Amino acid sequence: MSDHTTETIAAIASAPGAAGVGVVRVSGPLVPAIAQTLLGRLPQPRHAHFAAFRDTSGALIDRGLLLHFPAPASYTGEHVLELQGHGSAVLLDLLLRRVCELGARLARPGEFTERAFLNGKLDLAQAEAIADLIAARSQAGARAALQSMEGVFSRKVEALLQALIALRVHIEAAIDFPEEEIDFLADLAITRQLEAVRAELAELLHEAQRGLRLNDGLRVAIIGRPNAGKSSLLNALAGSDRAIVTPIAGTTRDVLRESLSLDGIALELADTAGLRETDDEVEREGVRRAHGELQRADVALLVTTQVGFADDLALFDTVPVGVERIVVINKIDLDRVPPHHKQCEGMHWLWASAKTGVGLDALRDRLKQLAGAGSGEGAFSARRRHVQALEQVHAHLDHAAGVLAHSRAGELAAEELRHAQHALGEITGSYSSDDLLGAIFGSFCIGK
Ligand code: GDP
Repeated sequence: MSDHTTETIAAIASAPGAAGVGVVRVSGPLVPAIAQTLLGRLPQPRHAHFAAFRDTSGALIDRGLLLHFPAPASYTGEHVLELQGHGSAVLLDLLLRRVCELGARLARPGEFTERAFLNGKLDLAQAEAIADLIAARSQAGARAALQSMEGVFSRKVEALLQALIALRVHIEAAIDFPEEEIDFLADLAITRQLEAVRAELAELLHEAQRGLRLNDGLRVAIIGRPNAGKSSLLNALAGSDRAIVTPIAGTTRDVLRESLSLDGIALELADTAGLRETDDEVEREGVRRAHGELQRADVALLVTTQVGFADDLALFDTVPVGVERIVVINKIDLDRVPPHHKQCEGMHWLWASAKTGVGLDALRDRLKQLAGAGSGEGAFSARRRHVQALEQVHAHLDHAAGVLAHSRAGELAAEELRHAQHALGEITGSYSSDDLLGAIFGSFCIGK
């Protein structure tokens, strides 16, 4: 963690381009002094001053704009200075050196945002969303990251946190008054309150999972027997000959990955080795990796054909619960009889030809839908750690409900809620146990 109260940091804040503007950003207590030296007088807060940036000897480095944002109304919450010069790497470097001569040091990656977090300007999830926005690979991902940066996700986490705290307050009160404990914990109001929190959490977890897919892209593992047309389908979707397609069974020995954007939605496709028993050492390794791929997939896409699909459905046996299942009956261009519309529950069925392209649009539509396309204005981005934290909260709330229903053990339920609260607080980095104590003592009159 940086010593964010004493040091002044500086960095080139925009990539210099041929015709663009270059920016050097400075943050910390020395900013007013640095600004005064560069401008020759104290700058007016939040005003653009046209300045001549000069080195120690007085020689001109560049001419440009100088903007001073006094603390705390700035990005980092500290005094911030922005120097806009010509977009030349050489000039920006000289300007940065000049600022460092005046007492600043070079900032570490992400240090401005880290300071903004430490100064309470934004929470952890918002800070992460800034990085995700910059790294976004799709329009939907960028829009979602912007929502998280604006605090949409954090506010939902905070609302849930407050509901959890209120619930804990009730349960802890029951423990503090043991003579009333049995009746208190048997009280339907507590059960209802817990159910409401669980429902709210389930909704948030669902939204965060969608947010993760918007952020990271939908992970699709293509599975199926050798020769079913997995590589051909991947190539047809990706529009390139990335995978090797041959008529010899067992060609795809490793996991091939392809990232593609379907109408502003990111997809991560992985073509796995044909999942079959084999004596070939290399192919066995491929099969092992294919199983590994399934563990981290959002969607398992089974590629099969009209002949043999009934047996191939067994390949879903190794697919973890919660992973979406799509069955593509491929090679329909070879089928003499029209596709046979058998459906199985919990799977989405499609008929296609990787060769002619028939049915691929329906597959793309399904994938886009799963990836969160058309999720609307409020969709926010999330990271894997957020989803994992929410899953932990889910598990703790389940345990709490279990102990309350079966044993009415208030201490155990309270302990589970405490863990749930901790996991939730990790998302925004906002929770500390002092907050909880404040809430307990603040809302209950113990002396009564
Ligand atoms: P994989 O082992 O599952 O990856 O299968 P490949 O993509 O390598 O395809 C195996 C063979 O089936 C190749 O000769 C492909 O050209 C052929 N193939 C794949 N899809 C189709 C299709 O939709 N129609 C026809 N007629 N042939 C296909």
